[in-house]
Amino acid sequence: MTNREKVVFDYEFPPRVRKRRRRRGGYRVLLMLLLLVFLTGCAAGYGVARLQSRDTVARDDVKNNGLFFTELKSNIPKSIDLPDYIIEDLLPINEYSRCGDKLTQVNDIVIHYVGNPNTTAWQNVNYFRNLATSGETSASSNLVVGMDGEVRLCVPLNEVAYCSNERNHDTVSIEFCHPDETGEPTEATYERLVSLTAWLCDLYGLDSENVIRHYDVMGKECPRYFVENKDAWEQFKEDVKAEMKA
Ligand SMILES: [Zn+2]
Repeated sequence: MTNREKVVFDYEFPPRVRKRRRRRGGYRVLLMLLLLVFLTGCAAGYGVARLQSRDTVARDDVKNNGLFFTELKSNIPKSIDLPDYIIEDLLPINEYSRCGDKLTQVNDIVIHYVGNPNTTAWQNVNYFRNLATSGETSASSNLVVGMDGEVRLCVPLNEVAYCSNERNHDTVSIEFCHPDETGEPTEATYERLVSLTAWLCDLYGLDSENVIRHYDVMGKECPRYFVENKDAWEQFKEDVKAEMKA
């Protein structure tokens, strides 16, 4: 810049005007800075709030004895390897004996007797199967144990069976066959009932106190022999406990 040009410059922009312009420029920078500080504050506040709320949820979970996690985590394994003695004899999905609804949690194993003396496991499963077309009533069981100790699985172990009234949605049911009206199981049935129940307890992470009778759900005389013989029932649970691996 030459001296002459400088003079012209000074002339066109007198000192007062230049000052004002500089001050305005200063305001703009200050405003930008304030805005930046404000936005940074907002972002930081938001981040802290998020962290705090996450922390609160985590602390509440611990306070509730891990309830948050147990509610989300099912105790039903994704795939189940059946023992050799279980015959898969699944019912078709139908509204009278296999609705197809999935269990989300198994909290108890419920024991029943079939109540129809001297019938086989196969006959009882067929009865459930025929309900799909007859629509006579709603009934089924996840498993049926026969008088020779044979076991039929007719409703998968992660599905609702129509057996235990209001506990259908959180239990797995076993019905056992019996030779006469007393409802006493044969020795073969009893032994199989013990090993099957123990296997189920291990499978779902339950203990023998989670083995209940239909009677314990709603006062029905089922399974008759174990309702009338309290000692036999207590012995059964002890035998299950002794058979469990876990
Ligand atoms: Zn029952």
